[in-house]
Amino acid sequence: MAIRIDGKLVSSKIREEVKGEVSKLTDKGIKPALAVILVGNDPASAVYVRNKQKACLETGIEPHQITLPEETEERELLDIIDKLNRDDDIHGILVQLPLPKHISSERVIEAISPKKDVDAFSHDSVGRIMEGKYSFLPCTPAGVMELLAHYNVEVEGKECVVIGRSNIVGKPMAMLLLNKSATVTICHSKTKNLPEVCKRADIIVCAVGKAEFLTADMVKPGAVVIDVGINRNSEGKLVGDVKFDEVEPIASMITPVPGGVGPMTIAMLLKNTVTSAKGT
Ligand code: NAD
Repeated sequence: MAIRIDGKLVSSKIREEVKGEVSKLTDKGIKPALAVILVGNDPASAVYVRNKQKACLETGIEPHQITLPEETEERELLDIIDKLNRDDDIHGILVQLPLPKHISSERVIEAISPKKDVDAFSHDSVGRIMEGKYSFLPCTPAGVMELLAHYNVEVEGKECVVIGRSNIVGKPMAMLLLNKSATVTICHSKTKNLPEVCKRADIIVCAVGKAEFLTADMVKPGAVVIDVGINRNSEGKLVGDVKFDEVEPIASMITPVPGGVGPMTIAMLLKNTVTSAKGT
């Protein structure tokens, strides 16, 4: 039976570390602050923003929330980002996605100063990840790397399969594994013979967004299985991209959903904000 990788435990350790760093910075007169911008009325986005705000408060980071109406013009939003970029008391800027359709997410993300891009979605941040010379890593893939490190999973020389090629999870995930000298295969919706490719993997990271997609026949016995997915199954239960009950008996380690990768994402956002504040 696989060891269950405990994302709640690891993320709470990271939050404690962040708390310690915040307190040291505060003693030096620097109060780490994260600006979170929410545009419009998407209920899921409102929940995510509330959770980020709560996590900031718990670690002593000052949340600076800006809530704007759906009809906000792109120019207005860009002006707000420009002000935040020039405000020395703000260390991280995050724009909650998705944005309303009339606003270009790309232009908005590119407007954030690379020094404050704590989500690491901008062209500059992505380029730095490619070169392995980053200040910030995108929070979810960085959270996966922290979990692997915490559980002493050796990555160097390992066959890693990442399923999913999104800009926020799959592609940066593959790059972080490559930066640690893994042999990485990226799979996606057009990949042929997916079960065979997956079966080669020592480490599988599944970020497909389909409930219980990865089944036991796709997993090599003893593999480490990381489940990024957050889905509802037909009964409305929260499940990952991995058929947990089937895969757990054959994997060596596995992340549950909930309680695996999920809690790591916000923890890494807090860590990025403190990293930025330390640089001021
Ligand atoms: P996405 O929809 O942008 O990308 C999904 C990827 O899966 C695509 O690249 C696609 O090619 C691939 N795919 C789809 N069908 C496939 C198939 N049949 N075979 C192989 N590949 C296939 O999704 P995303 O934003 O990368 O998110 C993936 C999942 O991770 C979602 O469930 C999302 O909710 C979750 N997520 C979790 C966190 C977290 O904090 N835990 C953060 C971000 C995303």
